[in-house]
Parts: sequence; structure tokens; C-alpha cells
Amino acid sequence: MRDLGICNLDLYITGHCNYQCEYCYGEHDHCPDMTIDTYTKALAFAKHIGAQNVQLCGGEPLVCRHFKEFTLQAKENGLGVVLRTNGYYLPEYAEFIANNCVWVGVSLDGLPAANDLMRPAKANISAEEKFARPIEGIRKLKEANPEIRIILASLASKCNSQHIPALAAYIRENQLPIDRWKIYEFICDKFRSVENKAKYEMSEADFKKLTEQMPATVNGAQIIFQSAHTENVGANCLIVRQNGDIKLSGVHYGNILTDSFDDIVDKLVSGNVLTVISNNKKGTYGEQ
Ligand code: SF4
Repeated sequence: MRDLGICNLDLYITGHCNYQCEYCYGEHDHCPDMTIDTYTKALAFAKHIGAQNVQLCGGEPLVCRHFKEFTLQAKENGLGVVLRTNGYYLPEYAEFIANNCVWVGVSLDGLPAANDLMRPAKANISAEEKFARPIEGIRKLKEANPEIRIILASLASKCNSQHIPALAAYIRENQLPIDRWKIYEFICDKFRSVENKAKYEMSEADFKKLTEQMPATVNGAQIIFQSAHTENVGANCLIVRQNGDIKLSGVHYGNILTDSFDDIVDKLVSGNVLTVISNNKKGTYGEQ
């Protein structure tokens, strides 16, 4: 084992998603689910680098057919599970997630109209439903397990940043039980975010203005901002893709199926990404 000081290893367990956000920098939605063999190897890699958690993301992890199996397998291996979801299927899965995950990140980019503008779904789902289901899911998670930690994730862009303060007011007035709220400035990174850069990119000054309009906390939950102008912001998560590749900001660090873990670690250590990843994860999930 070689402890890299990274608490969460991100796993893209599927490329499929029920949404089709135009700013998505997740995975191509034709990418298949991670296989059980690759996932098993990814868990071994997580333990090799001293990660405490695996973070299930994609795509939408709740449409991955192995989601429950993967979650239980991580637990059996002594790893915590962090789920990142758009929240649409949370109500159905809340009981299972509440009992088997340590953190849940739920994405909402504003009140119903602003959120709908940012997060079109593939099927015909109303703006109200796209907002109400994640909210219902958050409440169900906390009812089933008050200890589960919930982080709300919002993407701020030219299209919706002016509506984010209204979401803060909603959270406060409705006593939504969240533990943290992270607001990400749009970054032009990969996938659809590159194609739609002109529509979403905001100025540094406008993002700063948003941070100044927002309170420091809401319902006791700290609000964290991630500027697009932070160094290496596109490589602030250590991600294993469905095919086992580890690739950050265009640099290929190896493949967990075909390369030795030590070779991958050597390459990671020789670059300058580990400090950025470690600080990002501690800042997002660590004690504040
Ligand atoms: S941003 Fe998230 S919810 Fe939207 S299409 Fe990408 S993976 Fe799906």
C-alpha cells in the first residue's frame, strides 16, 4: 500500500444518464457500465492508495444496473461509499442509500425554472418534478439515517448564477437538511462543456459577485465555492473510468487492469496533481 493522502477515489461506474445537461463534463452517455471485474480491481486500487471512500459517479450512478451490488461490495471491502447523483431516482433508493452510503452529493442548479434550464432530461419530465424529487430524496435520506451527510452541488454559469441566491432562500425557509453546499463555477473541461462553452462560461468578476451575494452558511451548512480560475481545476479528482483508465487533464497515468498499481502511483507522484486532488477532497468532504 502507498498512501497518497486522497480520501476519495472517484469511479465512473456508468456513462448512462437520464438527463442531458449541455454543460456535462461527466462521461459520454454511450459509455457502458463498469464491469464487476473492473470495479473489483478499482476497489483494490482504492485500498492500495489508502483511500477511505470510493465516490460513485458517471453518468448517473442510480441508472447503473450494478449500483446496489457495487455499494455493498465497497462496504464489504471496508470502504465508505460517496454517491453523486442528479437526485431524480433518490426517493426510490433513499432507504438503501441512507443505510449504505456515507455522503450523498445531490445536484440542483436553482429553483425549478432555473434548474430546468440547466438540466434538461431525456424524457419529458416537468421542471417541478426535476426539483421536487431530489428535495424529497434528501428529506427521506435524513429521515432514514440522520447521520448521513448530504452535500448539495450547484453549477453556476452565465445562464443561472443570478438565480442561485433564491435557492439559498428556499433552503433556509424550508429547512432543507443539508450538511454542505458546493457551488462550482462552470469550467470548459471535456465532453459537452467544450461544445457549449459560449452558452455557459461566466466571467471571473460575475462569479466573485455571486460569492459576495451568498451567505457563508445556510441552515448551518457551509457554502463552498470552486472557482474555474483555480490552478489545475480540471484535474482535481482522481478518476477511474469504466475501462480502467486513469486520465486527468489529458494526461494518461495508466490503466488499473493492465498496468501495475505501483507504476500508476509512480506516475501520479511524479506529476503535480496529487496535492490539488487531496486539497479538493478535504475541502469538500473533510471537517470544516
Ligand atoms: S451533468 Fe450529471 S445529470 Fe447532467 S447529463 Fe451529466 S451526468 Fe447527467
